[in-house]
Amino acid sequence: MSEGVIRGRLLYDEPMSLHTSLKVGGPADLYAVPEDSADLQALLKWLSAEGIPWLAIGRGYNLLVRDKGIRGAVISLERFNRIEVVSDGDYPPLATGAYVRAGAGAENLSLVRFAQERGLGGIGFISGIPGTVGGAIRMNAGAYGQGILEHTQCLTLLRDGIVREFCINELDYGYRHLGLEAGDIVLEALFRLEAREADQTEDEIRKDLELRRSKHNVGLPSAGSFFKNPSGQAAWKLIDAAGMRGTRVGGAMVSEVHGNFLVNAGGASADDFLRLSAMVKNAVFRISGVTLQEEVRIVGDE
Ligand SMILES: Cc1cc2nc3c(=O)[nH]c(=O)nc-3n(C[C@H](O)[C@H](O)[C@H](O)COP(=O)(O)OP(=O)(O)OC[C@H]3O[C@@H](n4cnc5c(N)ncnc54)[C@H](O)[C@@H]3O)c2cc1C
Repeated sequence: MSEGVIRGRLLYDEPMSLHTSLKVGGPADLYAVPEDSADLQALLKWLSAEGIPWLAIGRGYNLLVRDKGIRGAVISLERFNRIEVVSDGDYPPLATGAYVRAGAGAENLSLVRFAQERGLGGIGFISGIPGTVGGAIRMNAGAYGQGILEHTQCLTLLRDGIVREFCINELDYGYRHLGLEAGDIVLEALFRLEAREADQTEDEIRKDLELRRSKHNVGLPSAGSFFKNPSGQAAWKLIDAAGMRGTRVGGAMVSEVHGNFLVNAGGASADDFLRLSAMVKNAVFRISGVTLQEEVRIVGDE
C-alpha cells in the first residue's frame, strides 16, 4: 500500500496525455509529485523496495508516451522550482557575472527572468524553449547553435539514492545529448551567467519569441522538432525533399508550416505518431541515405 508514502500528490492510472504537449499517451500506474528532497528520497526508497521502476519528467514537451502507458511511476519535479544566486566561494571565481542555481522544476523562462532582474544573462536563447530546467539539462536543449550545458557549471544528481554534485566537465555531453546513468534524477543545475543589462535580455527574449512566432507557429500540439538535425544538415530540409510535409497517419501529421514538427491534428494516438515517424524516416532514407534519429523521447509499454 502506498498511503502516506509521500506528503506530495500520488495519483493512480494517470493519463499521460494530460502531461505531454503531443496530448497522447496511456496511463502511468503512478504519478507522483514529491514536495521536496526528503519526500523524493522517501518515494524512491518505497519504489525500490516494491521493485517499481520510475521515470522523472519535466513538463512533457519532448515526450511521446506509448498508448499502453507506463508500467511504474512517473515522478514530476514541479515543486523543485527554487532559483537563487550563489556566491562563488565553492566554485571558480568569475571575472564578471555570477552563479545561479535553479531547481529541476523551474521553468526556463522563469530562470531567464530571475537572472534578468539581477542584471545577469547569457541564456536568453532558452527563454522560448518550453519546459523545465531538468528537461532542458537532460536534453541539452538549445537554439541558435547553443546548448544549455555550455552555460552550466555543475549538476546536482540523485544517483542510487545519493545526492551528488558533478562538474559539467566530468560528464559526457553534446548536441541534444547528456550521458547520464539510468535512474539518475537531475535535482538542480548551477549556471554560469554573465553581467548583462536587463534591456539586452529583453531584446533577446523578444527576438526569440518573434522568430518562433514566424517560423514555428504550427498552431497544433507538438513536441517541437521531432527529429535531431543530422550533422551538418537540417532535418526539416530532408523531410521536405522527401515530400513528407502534410503527410498524415490517423490524427498525426507532418506540419504544413515546419517539416520537422509532427503535430496532433486531432484525435491522434501515440501509435499514429510512431507510424508517421517510421514513414518519415523511411522516406528520408530512400532519398538521402540519412537515418533520422528522434529528438523526442519515446517511453512506455510496447
Ligand atoms: C513548440 C515547441 C518548441 C520547442 N523548441 C525547442 C528548441 O528550440 N530547442 C530545444 O532544444 N527543444 C525545443 N523543444 C523541445 C522541449 O521544449 C525541450 O526538449 C525541453 O527541454 C523539454 O523540457 P521538459 O521539462 O518538458 O522535459 P520533458 O519533455 O518532460 O522530458 C524530456 C526528457 O528529460 C527527462 N527529464 C526531465 N526532467 C528530468 C529530471 N529532473 N531528471 C532526469 N531526467 C529528466 C525525461 O525523462 C525525458 O527523457 C520545443 C518543444 C515545443 C513543444
